[in-house]
Amino acid sequence: MIAFDADDTLWHNESLFLDTQEKFRELLLQYQDAEWIDKKLYETEIRNLEHFGYGVKGFVLSMIETAIELTDGRISGSEIQTFVDFGKKMVAAPVEVLDGVQNTIEALSKTYPLMVITKGDLFEQETKVARSRLGHFFKHIEVVSEKIPASYQAVFKKYEIDSKRFMMVGNSLKSDVLPVLECGAHAVHVAYPTTWAHEQVDSKVLESIHFPKLDRIDQLPDLIQSMINQKI
Ligand SMILES: [Mg+2]
Repeated sequence: MIAFDADDTLWHNESLFLDTQEKFRELLLQYQDAEWIDKKLYETEIRNLEHFGYGVKGFVLSMIETAIELTDGRISGSEIQTFVDFGKKMVAAPVEVLDGVQNTIEALSKTYPLMVITKGDLFEQETKVARSRLGHFFKHIEVVSEKIPASYQAVFKKYEIDSKRFMMVGNSLKSDVLPVLECGAHAVHVAYPTTWAHEQVDSKVLESIHFPKLDRIDQLPDLIQSMINQKI
């Protein structure tokens, strides 16, 4: 079984958040400097994860909360409406499948059962899978609230997957690689140009851990073939 992360592995996602954050910052520059706005928004997002989980809805609420704090409650109703509209635009934005994804997924689906394991909002992630037009290549779609070893073990149990015959492919070392290796399964890192601060991993943690790293997803079939040849 080969499982893929979705955001920033199959399609662009982080860039959408960064673009919106830029617009948010521009609107609030009259109240505070850019650095303060970014710092406060990030802190609010992290604090709100336990209340709202990952995704656009939580992000919108975090923008509103940050703006209220930053203006000492003076933010206007119409400005708040602007943030809500940012969120609506984000969920309606076209799903931009990353280069090489379509061909790679199509080729691998002929030999292997494939699945998607993504974290976030169920509604948001399901509509993205549908709009990407990649859905039919995947046997299962799993939306989890966190990607920790217990979440992966629950997936293995649900689908009766042997962890040694499971490979996770994703852009986040913290979510897609480290917890999967901890479960005794295979994990492959595929780089994406930007990583949300919350998903970054201390480089020291990585020194003693070995796993394949790819620059592009279309290198995956060759990697899998060489692992099979080497009986990994
Ligand atoms: Mg991702």
